[in-house]
Order: sequence, then C-alpha cells, then structure tokens
Amino acid sequence: METKERTATGVGPDPTHPKPLLGRVAVVTGGSRGIGACIARELASSGATVIVNYVRGAEAAAGVVAQIEASGGKANAEAADVADCPQVAAMFARVKDRHKRLDILINNAGILRDRTFKKMTDDDWTQVISTNLGSVMHCCQAAVPMMLENGWGRIINISSFVGQMGNFGQANYSAAKAGILGFTKTLAIELARYNITVNAVCPGFVATEMWQSVPPNIQEKILDRIPMHRVAKAEEIARGVRFLAVEGDYMTGQSLNINGGVYMGW
Ligand code: NDP
Repeated sequence: METKERTATGVGPDPTHPKPLLGRVAVVTGGSRGIGACIARELASSGATVIVNYVRGAEAAAGVVAQIEASGGKANAEAADVADCPQVAAMFARVKDRHKRLDILINNAGILRDRTFKKMTDDDWTQVISTNLGSVMHCCQAAVPMMLENGWGRIINISSFVGQMGNFGQANYSAAKAGILGFTKTLAIELARYNITVNAVCPGFVATEMWQSVPPNIQEKILDRIPMHRVAKAEEIARGVRFLAVEGDYMTGQSLNINGGVYMGW
C-alpha cells in the first residue's frame, strides 16, 4: 500500500513493506549514545524520520544524525533536558513546527546514581527519579496530543529488569524503572481507545559505556547470574523496540523482557 495511504489518520504501518515507517516521525530521548542511538538508527532504517534528543552530547547526537543520513535516512538532533518540563514542551513544539506530526515516542533517556540506601542522598534520589521517570510523564504529555491528531501512536518506555526484581545499590533507579511499568499500564488503558499503544521494554545488562566501566571481576560475577552468560547487544534491544512500533498492533500495557533470562517474571 502507498505510504500516503498508510499514514492517513488512524492507519498503522504495513509490516510487509520494506520501509514500514516511511512518513512516520519518531522522537528518541537520549538518542545520542548507547541503546538510544541504536534505536534511532533502527527506526530510521525502517523509514521513520527520527529526532535524536540529547542533553549534553551535541557532538555524539550530530554523529548519529550523520550516520542515519549517510544510510539514506532522515534525522535531526534536538537538545532538551527531559527532566525539565518546559524544555520538553519547547522541544516538542519545535518538532511539531518542523515535521507537522509525531507518531512514535521512545522514552529511553536515563541516568544512574548508584549508592546503597544508607548512603543515598536526597539529590541521588531526585535526580534519578526526575530524569528516568519524570521525563516519561513530560514527554508523554507533550506527545499524546499530536498522536491524537493522527489517530495512531506508539509509545515505548525503556524500563529495566531492575524495575521488576530490584538490585543492590539501586533503590532510586529501581523505583524509577518500576514506576515506568505502572505508568505504562495506566496510560495503555487510557489511550487504547485512540489507537495509541503504550508498552515497556525491560532490558537486562546491555553492552553500552555503562557496562564497559564495570571492573572485569564484577563483570564475571554478573555474567554468572545470566542464564545466557552474556550481555545484550544494544541492537538486540533496538530490534525489540522496532517490533513494538511496527508489528505490535495488538500489544499494549506490556513489558517486553529482553534480558538473557536474568529475570523470568510471569
Ligand atoms: P547511556 O548512558 O549510554 O546513554 C544515556 C542517554 O540518555 C544519552 O543519550 C544521554 O544524553 C541521555 N540523557 C541522560 N540524561 C538526559 C536528560 N536529562 N535529558 C536528555 N537526555 C538525557 O545509557 P544506555 O544506553 O545504557 O541506557 C539507555 C536506557 O536503557 C536507560 O533508560 C537505561 O536506564 C536503560 N537500561 C540500560 C541498561 C544497560 O545495561 N545499559 C539495562 C537496562 C536498562 P547525552 O549524550 O546528552 O548525555
């Protein structure tokens, strides 16, 4: 089917099309590095125009945009601290101005401030909650009205297995990631009638800069906890996100666990 027809109000992508997301516009928060950069490239390779959000990494974000353009895709970078509601609103207003629509939102930006609870400060708590969880609320609030205009939308929130099972030294992070899961379910219930699905992806350990900074002896201990005895490639997470965006028509309020078996919820 023609792209023009597929992007008509309320019509989702055709998964059999080689570029099923042609004509769609996607925002990826924290798209300058790691998992977010992979998600940005994956969605662009499926035809979406991708907005690569970042807060500090202007050069890295420009690099992701350049890679996408070199492969024939479309992208632009947008700075905004997603923990800051007015900055987020301004970024989505620029997206609306430039692209006239928004179809897909990937809430990926996140930070760590790991400390045992005994040592955790109020600042460690507030920073992690506002960047990892407040950001999801801010971005959804700005994005949903544009999706309502389309009569179609996909919201994918990057949570973590840590939000499902907890982890030593991560009371702030696990609370934020668990909060994302509750938020995802409620928004899914509220938005289903508008053809907007809301799902979470829960990665296990992923080979990003974060993983490289873990000392080798600790890496070995972590690997012993993972039934598949390896960490994920960021591309494996990005492919799960693409699946939800392109093929997840009848999935909403779910958590897609891509974790090598480190957590087996039910
Ligand atoms: P990275 O640290 O590699 O990248 C983080 C990204 O988030 C960067 O693009 C960074 O932008 C952006 N970012 C951070 N703070 C803000 C902010 N306030 N506003 C806008 N952007 C911001 O992280 P990963 O790729 O490893 O993780 C991505 C997501 O996946 C996170 O939500 C993380 O919690 C989750 N996750 C990661 C796992 C892992 O093992 N790596 C496991 C499970 C979940 P900038 O370059 O400008 O700093």
